[in-house]
Amino acid sequence: MAFELTKLLRPHIHALKPYSSARDEYTGKEGIFLDANENPLGSVSSKPFNRYPDPNQTALKARLSEIKKVAADQIFLGNGSDEAIDLLFRAFCRPGIDNVIILPPTYGMYEVSAGINDTRVVKIPLSADFQIQEKKVLHAIDDNTKIIFICSPNNPSGNKLNRESIYKLLKSFNGLLVIDEAYIDFSDEPSFSRELDQYPNLLVLQTLSKAWGLAGLRLGMAFASREIIAILNKIKPPYNISGLTQQTVLKALDNLHRLEEMVSEIKSQKTALEEGLRKNPKVERIFPSAANFLLVRVPDAHKVYQQLIDKKIIVRDRSRVQQCEDCLRITVGSSEENNRLLLALNEVLETQAIAETNQRK
Ligand SMILES: *Cc1c(COP(=O)(O)O)cnc(C)c1O
Repeated sequence: MAFELTKLLRPHIHALKPYSSARDEYTGKEGIFLDANENPLGSVSSKPFNRYPDPNQTALKARLSEIKKVAADQIFLGNGSDEAIDLLFRAFCRPGIDNVIILPPTYGMYEVSAGINDTRVVKIPLSADFQIQEKKVLHAIDDNTKIIFICSPNNPSGNKLNRESIYKLLKSFNGLLVIDEAYIDFSDEPSFSRELDQYPNLLVLQTLSKAWGLAGLRLGMAFASREIIAILNKIKPPYNISGLTQQTVLKALDNLHRLEEMVSEIKSQKTALEEGLRKNPKVERIFPSAANFLLVRVPDAHKVYQQLIDKKIIVRDRSRVQQCEDCLRITVGSSEENNRLLLALNEVLETQAIAETNQRK
């Protein structure tokens, strides 16, 4: 059996006639616009936001196309990559019938989105060193498996997943293989977006929320075949990317040198943070990371997490996540922030050790 997009798609989505917005039907810039019930006088804001934004994000996609080297009609833009994840479920997964495969420990939104869309989640855990157990994944695929979610570098473990395993899945799976590259800018590996021509079942997710420093604007990207992107565009809310986001991101893209500067600064801060953590004998393990965070194992992590909060330092408690027992996920901060974290962690772990010795006495 080969990959057949129309078979994969939910039949009613295939048949669906999309909403045609006023700004879809006439795309000229000049004229008297009396077609969208907007306010002709202006806005209560000091900026002119009285007009609906471009539903196709044409200017923004043209620029992103140059930067990402992906054709504009192979780019979908979402209100964060979380919107793309949700739309994939809605397009492909029949509630109560279909299933998706995820590889925990991984990003939590795949399972939440599956739950919202009443789609069964089949979990094939990563191996002890957080790699894909591809034989088990292949074995778990059935006729109703629509999507496999892979996250590389993986959140929360931080490591890159083995490319050969990913290629094997790409070659043997007739559903959609989603590779979430939220942290690709921190990694030395090339994006799978280069391989879209070879794999019609591939969809790559990226986001401006991490390395680009634009989490507050909400802009996620999906790269895939023209056919898959057309489906996502067909079912998205017409004006899913606000005018403010489109304008601000377009302007920000002129400042690309900042991205490189910041990424290289964050990478050296990561090395410094890792060295600092290593000096603490109570820190049991620091997992290798190709992202902008470190997964760190400490004794009684949940308590440590709470004691750090008492010191107004907030890290991510992953201690109850399978295979991440007693682990905290620490985002690489600024040099000052990392030093504060290291000091606080030393204090907390020291007090913990003293308390234990006293108990034994
Ligand atoms: C942070 C993160 C995202 C977030 O995406 P948004 O574009 O902010 O919605 C997606 N995937 C992973 C793995 C992440 O860690």
